Amino acid sequence: MNTAPLVDQFRRRISYLRLSVTDRCDLRCAYCMPERMKFLPKNEVLSLEELHRLSLAFIARGVTKLRLTGGEPLVRRDMIDLVSALGRKIGDGLDELTLTTNATQLETHAEALAKAGVRRVNVSLDTRDKAKFAELTRRDMLPKVLSGIAAAKEAGLKVKLNTVALKGINDGELPDLIAWAHGQGHSVTLIEVMPLGEIDGDRVDHYLPLTAVKDDLEERWTLAPSTHRTGGPARYFDIAETGGRLGLITPLTGNFCEGCNRLRVTTTGQLYPCLGGGERVDLRAALREDSSDTALNHAVDHALAIKPERHHFAINKAGEAPAQPRHMSVTGG
Ligand code: SAM
Ligand code: SF4
Repeated sequence: MNTAPLVDQFRRRISYLRLSVTDRCDLRCAYCMPERMKFLPKNEVLSLEELHRLSLAFIARGVTKLRLTGGEPLVRRDMIDLVSALGRKIGDGLDELTLTTNATQLETHAEALAKAGVRRVNVSLDTRDKAKFAELTRRDMLPKVLSGIAAAKEAGLKVKLNTVALKGINDGELPDLIAWAHGQGHSVTLIEVMPLGEIDGDRVDHYLPLTAVKDDLEERWTLAPSTHRTGGPARYFDIAETGGRLGLITPLTGNFCEGCNRLRVTTTGQLYPCLGGGERVDLRAALREDSSDTALNHAVDHALAIKPERHHFAINKAGEAPAQPRHMSVTGG
C-alpha cells in the first residue's frame, strides 16, 4: 500500500478530498446549471467500487477528511452503501466523513447517515421564501428541504448552511436567514457566485461581493473575527447578537489559496487540483488500468506536481464565457 504523504509542489500538505459522486440533481439552481442540463451517461461515472477504492487510496496517503458531494449525492441510489463502507474508516485513518447536500432527501437518509458515522452535513439553502426558492431552484421543494434540515438536527447531525449571496434575489433576506439559522443552532457560510459552467442567464446580473454584504450586516450586528479555522477558504466571524458563527467564502474579492489543503475528484474520476484551474489528471483511466493502485498513485503524484499556486478566476463580464467551462455540479462543490 502506498502511504506517501500528499505534498504539492508548494509544500502544501493535502489532507482533504472532495469527491463528487454524481453530476445529477433533483434541483436546477439557476446559478449552478441550466434547466436542460445534460447529465453524463452512467458508464462514464465512477462505480461504487471505484469510488470506494479511490477513497481508500487517498486515506492511505493521509486524507483525513472526506466530503461527498455532487450534483446531489443523495440522489445516487447506492449512496448510503458507500457512506457506510467509508464510515468504517473513521478512526482508522479518517477523522471526518461529511456530505454537501441540498437536503431534499435528508428526511429519508439523516438517520442512516448518522448511523454510518457522519457527524456534520453542509446544506445549501439560499432562501426561505417558498416562491423564491421555486424560482431559483426551478423546483417547488422548500418544504422538503426544511423538513430535511429538521430531520438532520433530530438525528444529531450538525448542520452548516451554505448560502450563495445573490443580488436581487436573496440580498434583502440574508440577515433574517442568518438569524433563523443561528436560532436553530446552525452556522451559516455565505459564498460569492463563481464563474463555473454555462447557465441560462448571466451570473454577472446577480453577483454580489461579500464585502458589501459584510458592511450591511455590520450596521445591524457586531461581527467579531473568529479564530475558528477549518483549513478551508472560509473566514469566520462570531455574531454577538445571534450567538452564532458566520463564514464568508470570497473567491473573487479575497484570494484564499495559500493554505489550500484540498483536492477534488469529479464524478468521472478526473482529479482537478484546483477548482479555478484547468489542470486535470485522469484517475478513472488509472483505476481501470491496473487493480494494484500503482497507476492510480502515480497519477495522484502527477496531480500534486501540477497543483497551481492559486486560482485566477474573476467574475466574467456580461456576455463573456465562464472562467471554467465545467459546472460546479460536475467538479463537486
Ligand atoms: N447539490 C448539493 C448542494 O447543493 O449542496 C451539493 C453540490 S452543489 C454544486 C455544492 C455547492 O456549490 C452549493 O452550496 C451551491 O450553492 C454551490 N454552487 C453551485 N454553483 C455555484 C457557483 N457557480 N458559484 C458558487 N457556488 C456554487
Ligand atoms: Fe443541484 Fe446543488 Fe447545483 Fe443546486 S447547487 S443545482 S442543488 S448541484
